[in-house]
Amino acid sequence: MCQPFTAVDDLLSSRKFGAGNSMSAFIACLVVTAVLLLTKYGVIRTKNKGVLKPDQFQDFILQKKIAISHNVAIYRFQLPAPDSILGLPIGQHISIGADIKQPDGSTKEIVRSYTPITGDDQPGHFDILLKTYPQGNISQYMASLPIGQSIRVRGPKGAFNYTPNMVRSFGMIAGGTGITPMLQILNAIARGRATGDKTEAHLVFANVAADDILLKKELEQLAQDPKIHVHYVLNQPPKDWKGGVGFITETMIKVSVFISTSDLIQSYKVAH
Ligand SMILES: Cc1cc2nc3c(=O)[nH]c(=O)nc-3n(C[C@H](O)[C@H](O)[C@H](O)COP(=O)(O)OP(=O)(O)OC[C@H]3O[C@@H](n4cnc5c(N)ncnc54)[C@H](O)[C@@H]3O)c2cc1C
Repeated sequence: MCQPFTAVDDLLSSRKFGAGNSMSAFIACLVVTAVLLLTKYGVIRTKNKGVLKPDQFQDFILQKKIAISHNVAIYRFQLPAPDSILGLPIGQHISIGADIKQPDGSTKEIVRSYTPITGDDQPGHFDILLKTYPQGNISQYMASLPIGQSIRVRGPKGAFNYTPNMVRSFGMIAGGTGITPMLQILNAIARGRATGDKTEAHLVFANVAADDILLKKELEQLAQDPKIHVHYVLNQPPKDWKGGVGFITETMIKVSVFISTSDLIQSYKVAH
């Protein structure tokens, strides 16, 4: 069997490379040793396997809570090891489950869906952007979860799986925390630019007031990309607001989502 060489002396030693050994065995050993060393020192990265199990809830510890507004926070959960990843396909989501006491005194298992805003490119943890509803089951449970306590997670879930250049252009319409799957896909597009992802994206993002716009800094950073466009719509806009006003309309979608000439011609043809 090939024993990895541990030192140059070993490598040169006639005991390891005796006259009886063939040159091909020596080369094979050399390659194995080189791969092991390169992997050990991080030059070659082995593919990380995701920790999620679709049919089994697993516990993940709450590491950090970052308040975003009066009712929205980012919850950071620890993965088992610093190099662990969730293994969540881009565009899919997870289930969070908990046994929650109901108004009638009974305890019921409640399960809700959430789309992490971090991806497998950020090992060691995953982040959930979550809005707390006054009488929401899981959102209230999460809001009162102390740091160091765990939640139960199962997944991945969902049919959509983003792959680079799967479409020429995406039209996205989101409101409030509905931004989470869009952010996941936009981040993947931006990351893929270096390796040839040419996907365009037009996002219409609706919120009540300017302060409610979630992850604005991240979205503005993404919109620096010439092919990623974000159009904000507010129901209660401030005085000097330059974005859309009211609820999302058909015209807003036509103007902001089907922005290219060929898309406009296409949508005109469909409408007439
Ligand atoms: C694919 C997918 C991805 C999602 N991703 C995210 C995400 O990333 N972030 C996020 O924040 N959300 C996300 N959601 C929404 C999330 O799954 C939940 O619907 C949301 O958190 C509310 O769940 P809850 O258990 O807290 O509220 P629920 O218990 O479902 O309650 C919903 C509403 O009913 C009201 N209500 C509940 N019980 C009562 C009662 N007894 N009397 C009166 N009113 C009541 C609550 O106040 C609340 O307004 C996603 C949903 C889907 C389908």
